[in-house]
Amino acid sequence: MKLPRLPAIPGSRRRKMALLVGAVAIPALALAGFAVLLTLRVAREVEAEASRYNAYLAEKVTEAFEVELITQLRDAVGPAEQIAREGGPDAAIIRALATRSRRFEAPHYVPVDRMDNLSMIMVESQVLLFGEDPTQRREHPFAAVVLRGPNGDVTGAGGWWFNPRAFIATSLDSVVRDRLNTIPRMYGGLESTRNLCVQVFDREGHEVARVREPGFTNTTRRADMTGPFEGFRVSVTATNRAPVATAQRFVLVEVVFIFLLTAVMLGAVFVGLRYILRQIELVQEKSSFVSNVTHELKTPIAVVKLATETLEMKRFRNPEEEGKYLRTIMRETDRLAQLVDNILDFSRLESGKKMLRMGPVAVTDLVANTLESFRLRLEDQGFALDVDVPADLPRIRADVIALQHCLLNLLDNAVKYSRERREIRLFARAQEGFVSISVADRGIGIDPEHQTRIFEKFVRVETGLVHTVKGAGLGLSLVDQIVRAHYGRVEVASTPGEGSIFTLLIPIWVDGSGSSRPKS
Ligand code: ADP
Repeated sequence: MKLPRLPAIPGSRRRKMALLVGAVAIPALALAGFAVLLTLRVAREVEAEASRYNAYLAEKVTEAFEVELITQLRDAVGPAEQIAREGGPDAAIIRALATRSRRFEAPHYVPVDRMDNLSMIMVESQVLLFGEDPTQRREHPFAAVVLRGPNGDVTGAGGWWFNPRAFIATSLDSVVRDRLNTIPRMYGGLESTRNLCVQVFDREGHEVARVREPGFTNTTRRADMTGPFEGFRVSVTATNRAPVATAQRFVLVEVVFIFLLTAVMLGAVFVGLRYILRQIELVQEKSSFVSNVTHELKTPIAVVKLATETLEMKRFRNPEEEGKYLRTIMRETDRLAQLVDNILDFSRLESGKKMLRMGPVAVTDLVANTLESFRLRLEDQGFALDVDVPADLPRIRADVIALQHCLLNLLDNAVKYSRERREIRLFARAQEGFVSISVADRGIGIDPEHQTRIFEKFVRVETGLVHTVKGAGLGLSLVDQIVRAHYGRVEVASTPGEGSIFTLLIPIWVDGSGSSRPKS
C-alpha cells in the first residue's frame, strides 16, 4: 500500500501552527479592527448630530424665556395701556399697573423723557424694555412694554421689577413643554425634547431649575441668555433614555461583541488547524512508516539469506567465522521477530483486540527472561551491561509477555541510539505502590522538546541517526500503551549528547488478579 505524499509545511510543529494561525489571525484581527472603527465612527456621528441639536435647542430655550416674559407683561399691562391710550394721567397708569402686578414685584412707570435709560430688544416683533435704572435694585431688573397716547406717540413705558431667578424657576417647565412646541421652526417639537434635560444656571453657576435628569454629558451644549436675563445660561443634555445614549451603550456592547466573536472564531480556527495539521502529519508519518517497515523487513531477510548461503557453501575459513555467521542469523531473526511482534501488537492494540493476562510477576524473573534473548546481541555489538535488580522487590501486577516486549523495545532503542559509549544499565527500584524498571544508556539523548512526542505512534525524531538507524516509530508508542494498560506509566529523562533513562512504573501486585483490555 502506498500512501500519497502530502506537501510538507516547513518548520517545526509550533512554527507551522504559528504560520497557519497567523495567516488567519492577522486578517481576522484587521477586519475586527475595521468593524470597530466603523462602529465608533457611526457613534461619533450620532453624538455630533445630537450635540448640534442640543445647541440649537439651548438657543431656542433662551429665546423662549424672552417670549414668555413679554407675553406675561402684555397680559398684565392691558388696563394701563388702555388708560395711556385714552390720555389718562401718569398716576392713573401707575395705579392700573399696581393692580396687575401679582406676578411681578412692584409696578413702575417710566415717562418718555426718561426712557433713554432703558435698553430695548425686539421679541417677536414687540419691544421689550429693560434696565436697572431707575430701580437701584441691582439683581432685580426692571422689564416693561411701550405705552402709547391717543395719537399713537410713545408716552412712556409701563412695567415691573421682576426676579429672573424666580421667573425662570417657575417658567422653565412650561417653556420647555409648551412654548418650544409652538415655535414653528422647532423641528421635532416636543417629541424631540422629550429625552432631553434642560438646566438653567445663574451668574455664579448655581443651578436655578431643571427639567429631567442629565444623562449623556458628552452632548451637553450651552447658550447664554440675553436681555433682562443677562448672565444666566441654559444647558441642554441628552438624558439616559435619549436615542444617542442608547446608541452609545450599544456601541460598547457591539465592540465587546466583535472582540468576543473574533476570539471565538480564532479559537475555533486554532483548534481546527491543529486537528488538520495533526491529520496531515499522521498521513505523512504513516507513509514513512510503510517505507520504513518494508525496509526493516527486507534488510534482515537479505542478511540472513546471505549468511545461510555462505554457510551452505561452506565459504568460511575457520570455525570462528562459522560461529560469526550463525550469530548474525540469530541476531537478524531476533530483530525480525521483534519487528513482527511490534507490528502485530500495534494492530491489536489499535483495534482494541489485545488482551493482557495480568498476574503476579517477579521483576528479577522478568529481567532475566528478557535479557536471555537480548544478551547475545549486546555482547555482539560490544555493549557493557550493568544489571541491578534487588531480589527482594515486591512482585508486580503484569502481563509478563507484554512487559518483556516493552523492556526489549527499550533495550533495542538503547542499542540503536548509542554511539561510542556503549554502556547500558538496567535497574529496578521499589516506589510507593509501584516498581520502577529503568533502562539507561549513554547515547545521543533526546531534545526536551521531543521528549513527549516520541511516545506518539510513527514519531521518529529527526536526528543525525534517524536515517542510518532503522525503525518504524512504533516501539515507544507500544510501550506507552502497554504500560498504561497496566495502570502504570513510562517516563523519560534525557540530556542530548549525554544519554537517556527510560523508566517503566508498574503497580505492585495486590491480591486479586485478572485480565484487562487496554484502551486503544
Ligand atoms: P523507532 O526506534 O523505531 O524509531 P521508537 O518509538 O522506539 O521508534 O522511538 C521513537 C523515537 O524516539 C526514535 O526514533 C528516537 O528518535 C527516539 N528514541 C527512542 N529511544 C531513544 C534513546 N534511548 N535514545 C535516543 N533517542 C531515542
